[in-house]
Amino acid sequence: MTCPKCGGENVTISMEQVSSKAKKSGVGFGGHMNNLARGITAVSTLGLSNLVWKKSTGTEKSKIKSQKVCLCQNCGHSWTIE
Ligand SMILES: [Zn+2]
Repeated sequence: MTCPKCGGENVTISMEQVSSKAKKSGVGFGGHMNNLARGITAVSTLGLSNLVWKKSTGTEKSKIKSQKVCLCQNCGHSWTIE
């Protein structure tokens, strides 16, 4: 494994579990907040939500998925692999 950024070989790999933020937050907020709060949240997080939706397209149904996170000890660059 080499760093795609600097080409260094001092790379550590760790497993990280990632949950579907879009689904989790949607259910959680919907069940515990009133309509006014939900409206404010929808407005204030609209920009962020759009980014989340785009990034999580196709993975919303999976509750938790694990992925390998690589971290370069040389330059600090991190990236994920399937
Ligand atoms: Zn690097």
